[in-house]
Amino acid sequence: MQTENNQNLFVAEFKKYKSEADFVAFKTVSEKSRDYTVRNGKPDQFYESNDSGLLIEVMKNGHIGYGATSEFTSEGINHAFKKAMAMTTAAEKNSVFKFTEAIRPPSKGSYETLRSRKLDQLSLGEVYDFLKKTSLALKTNDKIISATSDVMLIETTQNYLSSAGAEFTQDFDIIVNSMQATARDGAETQTRSLHGGRGNCLQAGAEYFNLDKALQECEQISREVLELLTADNCPSETCDVILAPDQMLLQIHESIGHPLELDRILGDERNFAGWSFVEAADFGKLQYGSKMMNVVFDPTVAHELASYKFDEAGNPAHKKYLIKDGILQAGLGSLESQMRSNLSGVANSRSSSWNRAPIDRMANINLESGDKTLEQMIASVERGVIMFSNKSWSIDDYRRKFQFGCEYGRLIENGKLTKILKNPNYRGVTVPFWNSLSALSNTTETYGSPYCGKGEPSQVIRVGHASPYALFKNIEVFGGG
Ligand SMILES: [Zn+2]
Repeated sequence: MQTENNQNLFVAEFKKYKSEADFVAFKTVSEKSRDYTVRNGKPDQFYESNDSGLLIEVMKNGHIGYGATSEFTSEGINHAFKKAMAMTTAAEKNSVFKFTEAIRPPSKGSYETLRSRKLDQLSLGEVYDFLKKTSLALKTNDKIISATSDVMLIETTQNYLSSAGAEFTQDFDIIVNSMQATARDGAETQTRSLHGGRGNCLQAGAEYFNLDKALQECEQISREVLELLTADNCPSETCDVILAPDQMLLQIHESIGHPLELDRILGDERNFAGWSFVEAADFGKLQYGSKMMNVVFDPTVAHELASYKFDEAGNPAHKKYLIKDGILQAGLGSLESQMRSNLSGVANSRSSSWNRAPIDRMANINLESGDKTLEQMIASVERGVIMFSNKSWSIDDYRRKFQFGCEYGRLIENGKLTKILKNPNYRGVTVPFWNSLSALSNTTETYGSPYCGKGEPSQVIRVGHASPYALFKNIEVFGGG
């Protein structure tokens, strides 16, 4: 779609329609995805796809409508424009709110992933060599029955023009690299993976592929999966818990990110993704967590998965505190949700592609670091469990009660790491849990997920989460079968 002819057509067609409603925006999305898997040293799955299309947004009498097309011709665009106008005219009768053009700023500029070599310069041979070597490096023992190395490479370009005067392009290179080993001995089967199967998930170019670093990660995964085969089950008791950053990513995502989405708080999502225990009156007041809890929305971090310069309403993206010193400050709401709710929000109007309307989403939601080393945190625990890498999760519709399982644990006794534990799990209730936060490490690790689902029709988008190690007091832990 991003050829010169298409770009000329995009601009010419936009000029044709831009005065046909109170507000008109054209957005193109073009995405190339490659997903390669090598299992036990042999090619397993090689998949490539290209997808591109145009979304047209119109505003008429304070109501918004959408039309989309993958047919990039004058006829296709005309059809999509008519659809957008018909949709807003029909739906206007049941409008919940009358918007103004203030929700569509006239932003101009461009963004591109920080990289030294673009992903389109990476050959299949280079990727296959990396995957084959890492897959074989995982298989250090006959008990390892499956050793998988996978990489997803995504190249996305967005182009946006609006009648308010917005004009920007954004160009993303995304890498999701995961490695996983499954081992079996008799009736016992265990899996260990790079950061709970989500792997290294970031914005970067071809320079990401560092075989030496990946081989070290393989050595650790393969050693730990074999350890789990003979490990004790996690005990069932109430004790301290230290969560590693690759479990915190899901803890932050499910018990901070989703409940703070303003469209959820407004009730838009209740039929599908659910509601939230957070109410409008809680902002500025609710002691969400202990005083050391500082959580930011920050799409400006280089290499983090959901970094960008503008959201899909053209709102410039800035770092903003959602929770400061444990007190809830702002929600994850776009300019539309901010206008409707009269609450503070962020630049998070995002869609999964050209054929979906943008809604309130997470981007990068990060927990800020503390002042302890991990060794100091472990030394402060009389009895507890440290847990690594998310394996399972469950949380209710209001994002209140949750239960998480991890791949790998260690018992902490009298300030020292002792036994290795398999099947470590814990449960809690969001606000008391975060209020039991009592130490944070002084460094953070950054992860992400390409699979956050929400919306009706369904939309899957990419999110980033950075976190330090975190110590929670008096948590219910338990083992598994
Ligand atoms: Zn999600």
